[in-house]
Amino acid sequence: MTIDLHMHSTCSDGTFTPTELAREAKAAGLTHVALTDHDTVEGVAEARAEAHRQGIAFLSGLEISAEYQPGTMHILGYGFDETSAPLLERLASVQRWRDERNPRIVEKLNHLGVALTLPEVEAVSGGGLVGRPHFAKVLMDKGYVKTRQEAFDRFLAKGGPAYVDKARLSPEESVALIRAAGGVAVLAHPLQLQAEDDDTLDAILGGLADAGLQGLECHYRNHTPEDTRRFLALAKGFGLLVTGGSDFHGTNRPGIRLGIGEGGLNVPMGCWEGLVGRGLGN
Ligand code: AMP
Ligand code: ZN
Ligand code: FE
Ligand code: FE
Repeated sequence: MTIDLHMHSTCSDGTFTPTELAREAKAAGLTHVALTDHDTVEGVAEARAEAHRQGIAFLSGLEISAEYQPGTMHILGYGFDETSAPLLERLASVQRWRDERNPRIVEKLNHLGVALTLPEVEAVSGGGLVGRPHFAKVLMDKGYVKTRQEAFDRFLAKGGPAYVDKARLSPEESVALIRAAGGVAVLAHPLQLQAEDDDTLDAILGGLADAGLQGLECHYRNHTPEDTRRFLALAKGFGLLVTGGSDFHGTNRPGIRLGIGEGGLNVPMGCWEGLVGRGLGN
C-alpha cells in the first residue's frame, strides 16, 4: 500500500494530464491517491475514472491558495462533491481574479524588456489555469533565465519586478467552502506559512481549527523526521487528522517523485483511513 494525497495535473501547474497522472501513479506503485490542483476541480472526474481503471483508490481533492501574510497558506480539500454548485461558483471567481492578473504580469515583463505574450504562456499551460510557473517556463524557454528558480528570483517572486498580487479567498471561507461541499479541510505544508516560532504556529492553527479545519499535512516531500514529529504532535494537540503527499508537479518540479517526494516521504495508510473514516472515499 502506497499513498500520495497531494499532486498536480495540467489543470493547474503540473505537466501530466489527469489521465497520465493516474497512469504514473500506477507505475509508481501507488494504491491510494487524491488529485489536488490549485483552485480548480476540473481534473477530478477524469483522474478518478483512470485511477479506478488502474485499480487505484481515489479521493477528490483541491488546494486553495488562501489570503495570508507573510508566507503562503494553502488549504487542501478532500472527498467533497466536485459538482457542488457553490464550490464551482466560488472557484470561478478565483479563476477570474487569475485571468485579470495574467495580462498585467505580461505588461510588467514587456516593460522590463522581456518579449513575451499571453498566448505563449497559455500554450505551455497544457490548457488548465495559467500561473507564475508557466511564465517561468516561457522565460526559460526563451533564454531570459537559465532556471525556473531564476525566473522567480529575478522577476516573478512576491515583491519582484513582475509580481502582481491577486485576490484570494480568506482561510475561513476556504475551509467553509470545502466543508459545505461535503469535504474535509486540511492545512497544507505548514512550513510554508513561515511562522516565526511555535507560538505563532499554534495561534494560526488554533484560529483555523476554530474555523472548522479538520486536518494537517504532517507528511510532506521535504519534511525532516523532526518536522514530521513536530507537526504530528500539533495535529494531536488540536485533534486534527493527519495527511501527507509529495506535491508532485511532473517535470515542472524535477526531483520530486510520486509517493516518495524528495526520497524520504512515506505516507502512512492511517492517513487514508482517517479521511475515509469521515465518510469519504470511493
Ligand atoms: P501562482 O498561483 O500563479 O501565484 O503561482 C504560485 C506557484 O508559483 C507556487 O505554487 C510555486 O510553485 C511557484 N512559486 C511561487 N513563489 C515562488 C518562488 N519564490 N520560488 C519558486 N517558485 C515559486
Ligand atoms: Zn503548484
Ligand atoms: Fe501548496
Ligand atoms: Fe500543491
